[in-house]
Amino acid sequence: MRIAILALQGAFIEHELMMRGLGCDVFEIRKLSDWNQPKDGLIIPGGESTVQSKLLNELGLSVPIRNAIISGLPVMGTCAGLILLAEQVENGNSSMGLSTMSIEVCRNAYGRQLGSFYVKSSMKDVGEDLPMVFIRAPYIKRVYGNARVMAERDGRIVAARQENQLVTSFHPELTEDNRVHRYFLDMVREYGE
Ligand code: GLN
Repeated sequence: MRIAILALQGAFIEHELMMRGLGCDVFEIRKLSDWNQPKDGLIIPGGESTVQSKLLNELGLSVPIRNAIISGLPVMGTCAGLILLAEQVENGNSSMGLSTMSIEVCRNAYGRQLGSFYVKSSMKDVGEDLPMVFIRAPYIKRVYGNARVMAERDGRIVAARQENQLVTSFHPELTEDNRVHRYFLDMVREYGE
């Protein structure tokens, strides 16, 4: 399987290592010509969603990526990646760019650095005791349409899925536990059939 990793900014290297460890080919998306390579899935990493959103637009990547996701390309968005995929950011005012997923997101919901923390919690269809690293994390205020809650922590939604799209407000790539990535690869297989 060949996985594209958006590598404009943020924690993309850790996703690459995780995917290589699971036997995938990976390649980085840094410009429009990278995007044209064949791929079975896409990862949008954590980082700073405002910066990633600006670069996606400037590089002409927003529209082709959005169209591919709408056409069924499996995508996993972590943290800032989740924000980019949300149709509604902060009180339903606007989206940050890709706007493919029926979720409403609050950015920096846990405050600044002080709000970074680690917990173990469960995620539907993935398992129990999953390590979750939150770094200035967003949370999902609500899901609607075809989006489904996959994990909640302290009454807040921290992971969701909508068909070919999977998002987490935490960073599974910053742990030794590869179950979320394995779950995503199952989605990639399902959509590749
Ligand atoms: N707070 C960041 C944003 O709004 C996301 C943080 C992260 O990806 N770790 O983009």
